[in-house]
Amino acid sequence: MTDFDVDLFVIGAGSGGVRAARVAAGYGAKVLVAEEYRIGGTCVIRGCVPKKLMVYASRFADDFADAEGFGWTVGETSFDWGKLIAAKDKEISRLSAIYRANLEKTGVAFVQSRAIVEDAHTVRILAENRTVRARYILIATGGAPFLGPEIPGRELAITSNEIFDLKEQPKRILIVGGGYIAVEFASLLERLGSKVTVALRGENILRGFDEDARCFLRDSLTERGVEFKFNDMPVRLEKKDEAIHASLAQGEILEVDQVMLAIGRRPATQGLGLDRAGVRLDAVGAVCVDSFSQSSVPSIYAVGDVTNRVDLTPVAIREGHAFADTVFGGKPRAVDHMHLPTAVFTTPELGTVGMTEEEARLKHTVVDVFKTSFRPLKATLCGSCDRVFMKIIVDGETDRVLGVHIIAGDAGEMIQLLGIIIKMGATKADFDATMAVHPTSAEELVTLHTRTMRYEQPKLDPGEAPALMDEEQMP
Ligand code: FAD
Repeated sequence: MTDFDVDLFVIGAGSGGVRAARVAAGYGAKVLVAEEYRIGGTCVIRGCVPKKLMVYASRFADDFADAEGFGWTVGETSFDWGKLIAAKDKEISRLSAIYRANLEKTGVAFVQSRAIVEDAHTVRILAENRTVRARYILIATGGAPFLGPEIPGRELAITSNEIFDLKEQPKRILIVGGGYIAVEFASLLERLGSKVTVALRGENILRGFDEDARCFLRDSLTERGVEFKFNDMPVRLEKKDEAIHASLAQGEILEVDQVMLAIGRRPATQGLGLDRAGVRLDAVGAVCVDSFSQSSVPSIYAVGDVTNRVDLTPVAIREGHAFADTVFGGKPRAVDHMHLPTAVFTTPELGTVGMTEEEARLKHTVVDVFKTSFRPLKATLCGSCDRVFMKIIVDGETDRVLGVHIIAGDAGEMIQLLGIIIKMGATKADFDATMAVHPTSAEELVTLHTRTMRYEQPKLDPGEAPALMDEEQMP
């Protein structure tokens, strides 16, 4: 330690950075964390958590509407955006304080400042204009919304960063993009009473997800009232009185209160000094790392969204933990990024694990598809047109389940559990041998005996298979 002020300097107190710092300190390392905004990072402050709270808020709309069918008389209801935002703010402040307390408990030092890298072992803390020498540096700076082409009036648009703090609910909103953030906000804002239009470059939402699931979810959201403009993007935004006029490429002009850009995220490496230190970045600015999260400079590691592997909170946490185990715990650990269960928190939710049908057909010679769509029991009394979609993809040669895709209420909860058995290598016969829980929607997963389709084809070179999901689409 003689040459260094700390064993580990972590830049960024988000999901990955906080976990890495705490675990490293647990191994006895002297750790300093710098955060330029708020402890907790994207997930806690302006990502997963506040979004899910808003999703919960939005679903009361369905509960009130459904109640009558079950004998309830619900009086007049109204929704107060200001109250929701205030309650959400209180909760994320509480969570951020817990994150801070947990850092302190493990003896991690914290500095509220932007930090930049000066060389392989030196970090500058900008707020205090001092440098710290560190044996290891961990880049855990996450990502930031990508703003896309510089169209006239782009500065009028907001991103997911700002949507959580709007003082007023937009009565009319144009959401630009078709990834999971775009569709989640489209779904929740529509239920909260906004008129939602989604404009996207592609022909369907959620590129990279299973094609049937994409179509099913698109139709469900459309039926609910979300308006999609496919193959269309804004080319100009203009402020007219209180409204924004968004001119779309195909000629239409939409009058809205807000435009939200949700066209992807980029790793937060700009101005971080990594080039100066000789750290290799890829074309979108992500830190290139090996399976142990080590960069091209041996003393500099990177975890989470800044590496652009899979941009999800649990992945960032795992990577942070594995880094600390590897470097400070003497237990080299690489994170397995295969078979990740994940959810899109629209209403209904999309839960997915493993391969899409399209990917399975490229990689396997015989692929069996089992799928079903049905009206859930709850919908029968309330007259709701909600339907459930389930699809199981099976390797026809080994019977191993390659992927499962579900659109249903609580699909996120279902897919978390399915994630375990898919990871364990479950076969379709294992599904069939499992007793159903009745009456549930999930029981269909173990009673889906009739194959919908079998594809048999020559095996292609795996190099020809497309990526499972791109960074713009991953939840
Ligand atoms: P972050 O959590 O982003 O933390 C990086 C931190 O570094 C930030 O606090 C930032 O302020 C700080 N920082 C950056 N540069 C510097 C610097 N130079 N000096 C000091 N500090 C710096 N994932 C899910 O798994 N499920 C979801 O439902 C989900 N929903 C999401 C919804 C939205 C709207 C968004 C935007 C993301 C969502 N995600 C979700 C993704 C998830 O939030 C990220 O994958 C996760 O937060 C990544 O963690 P991280 O540690 O890499 O970075």
